[in-house]
Amino acid sequence: MSLRTAAEQFAVLLARQIYGGIGAIFCLHRIVPDAERSALPDNRALEIAPESLRAMLAWVAGRGLEVIALDQVPERLVRPRGRKFACFTFDDGYRDNLTLALPVFREFGMPFAVHVSPGLIDGSASLWWYQIDAALGRGERLDFAWRGREYGWPAGSLEAFSALAKMIREELGEAREELVAAICVAAGIDAVGLQKRLMMTWDEVRRLAAEPLVTIGAHTVTHPVLRLLGEAEALAEMADSKRQVEAQLGGPVRHLAFPFGGANAVGSREFRLANEAAFSTATTTRCANLFPAHARHLTALPRLTVSGNYPAPDRVRKLESGLLSARERKFQRVVTG
Ligand SMILES: [Zn+2]
Repeated sequence: MSLRTAAEQFAVLLARQIYGGIGAIFCLHRIVPDAERSALPDNRALEIAPESLRAMLAWVAGRGLEVIALDQVPERLVRPRGRKFACFTFDDGYRDNLTLALPVFREFGMPFAVHVSPGLIDGSASLWWYQIDAALGRGERLDFAWRGREYGWPAGSLEAFSALAKMIREELGEAREELVAAICVAAGIDAVGLQKRLMMTWDEVRRLAAEPLVTIGAHTVTHPVLRLLGEAEALAEMADSKRQVEAQLGGPVRHLAFPFGGANAVGSREFRLANEAAFSTATTTRCANLFPAHARHLTALPRLTVSGNYPAPDRVRKLESGLLSARERKFQRVVTG
């Protein structure tokens, strides 16, 4: 019987997928000790325990995969050579990327990238997925009014999280912030304090940026569903996040990760706009490996999501068979639309 942890097994399965291409970019969010992980599956999926990350990197190293910085990916696609490569990226800008992820990556001397949203860092855009999590974990029920309608769910309801996440994603700008505030006030949670605890400050982003192993990228200003925005707004979300992060760091920012990143959040228009915003790469969360043909689609690069919930049995089977990534990319080698 194998003594491998769930995370190790998943790393094996993910890495196996790389053999279909010349490399892969992995998408992670948070590193969280097991005892502190969220009870909600959607948020738990964002959270990998430090020991699971260590096991994953040990496996990648043992397997002889070359871990490269995001800056090296374009050149590597244009001129494929050497071993298969892996590239690690984190989205949003959580404090644990600095306190828990960095020490583990340092142990292995492996580089990684962190894509930050200025609005999530300065608090002008809410970290609603964790605020709603807290709101649903408090008291017996969550009841609130929005646009003249009453909403209510029993505490801890999974349906409530899905329904609220859908409502919030569909709202834009100020309205989205007002909706999140209405929920947090009704639940009596300190939404601002929670966000400050979870996200880095700009000083911490600068400390991370000063690490030779770390590349800082952008992730839009307010973390919207880009497809819901008009073209000018979508471009501004990308270009302004680049400018704001550059101003904070005093150096160039070359990489963008699209918020949410699935086919319902980004498509060919967003790939073109990321190019117009002068990003060298932009990454989605579409599940696929990298092929030399991606050199012509640098602002539509797929990533393999490392989920804290894997391996869920049927997903593992599909991954193992290669079916999942093949089906998610509609059996084409390169998805551009
Ligand atoms: Zn994100």
